[in-house]
Amino acid sequence: MVEGAAQLRPFESDKEAKMKAVVWYREAKNCIEVREIERPRPGPGDVLVEVKAAAICGTELHAQDGETNVPTKFPVVLGHEYSGVAAEVGGEVRGFSVGDRVVGETTASACGVCPVCRGGEYNLCRNRLIIGYAADGAFAKYVRVPHRFLHHLPSSIPFEEASLIEPLCVAYNALVEKVTVKPGDVVAVLGPGPIGLFCLQVAKVAGASRVIVSGLADDRRRLEVARELGAYRVVNSEAEDIVAAVMEASGGRGADVVADAAGPAETLWQSIEMVRPSGKIVKIGWGPKPVGFSLDKLLSKGATLQGTLGHNWKVWEAAIRLLEAGLIKASPLISAEYPLTEWAKAFDVMRYKSGVTAVLKPVD
Ligand SMILES: [Zn+2]
Ligand SMILES: [Zn+2]
Repeated sequence: MVEGAAQLRPFESDKEAKMKAVVWYREAKNCIEVREIERPRPGPGDVLVEVKAAAICGTELHAQDGETNVPTKFPVVLGHEYSGVAAEVGGEVRGFSVGDRVVGETTASACGVCPVCRGGEYNLCRNRLIIGYAADGAFAKYVRVPHRFLHHLPSSIPFEEASLIEPLCVAYNALVEKVTVKPGDVVAVLGPGPIGLFCLQVAKVAGASRVIVSGLADDRRRLEVARELGAYRVVNSEAEDIVAAVMEASGGRGADVVADAAGPAETLWQSIEMVRPSGKIVKIGWGPKPVGFSLDKLLSKGATLQGTLGHNWKVWEAAIRLLEAGLIKASPLISAEYPLTEWAKAFDVMRYKSGVTAVLKPVD
């Protein structure tokens, strides 16, 4: 195939021009349904990805509850954690051909000219739009992705596991790019969802000596996975004092790094209590409610409170290499697989925490 020539495929039948998709059609509670919609066509710089697997994200539960905190079009196809195969390639695409195994970022577009875009951190662009919110997402047979946000997927990584590279990238960005876990560090991870369980693994790969993972009583299954993945200790923070557990694990010094992958005021308070003087807290989980307590202890400890959001190209490449090398495992996080039409069951795995996450498979 000639580089630079569009690789488009005419529809062979009316049926091929349509696809089933999980659509969020109104900004209100329980307004998600499977619809038959037009199959997207790639623009000149786009790749049309035939989705092979798409994972559920906690933010999609907010969509089910009728809430979004990013620019969203309605109706929109949900889904931003996905992998697949290039099915069609626009004429200006370089480096991808039909049939390539791919995994895609969540960014649909960024301005390209603001200071963070120019510096490569387009994930922080104020005008960034996200796949599955402002552009149609991957809970469908096909998703259209700009080629600059696509990555080649090694054949050794199954599509299902590849659909979890996105939360791995969130963890990598937090613990490698934003705060740096150093060999020997004691690390606390609050919240054992997919991002928290990847934080545990990234911290261990970075050389953490002990990683303590906490969750709530209903996180029991997820805390078991944390233990299987090598957590030094797992704590049900509703039954045990997580701050005391971290103090004990760190010889009374406190955690060198705390990753808050939960988000509410309570875990920020715990983070400040358990971080060591001059230690670092990276806040990954969102908590829209006011926190309601003094931050003076953060100041008196001289500790760092660091925000983080998303990931960029180099983080994706590093995450893919970590999975390929077997240094990080995604399969223990996949608790169930469902056909697209049974999306609600997959959402329930996340909502009721019967597992870590679930993966959807497209249907014809
Ligand atoms: Zn997500
Ligand atoms: Zn920008």
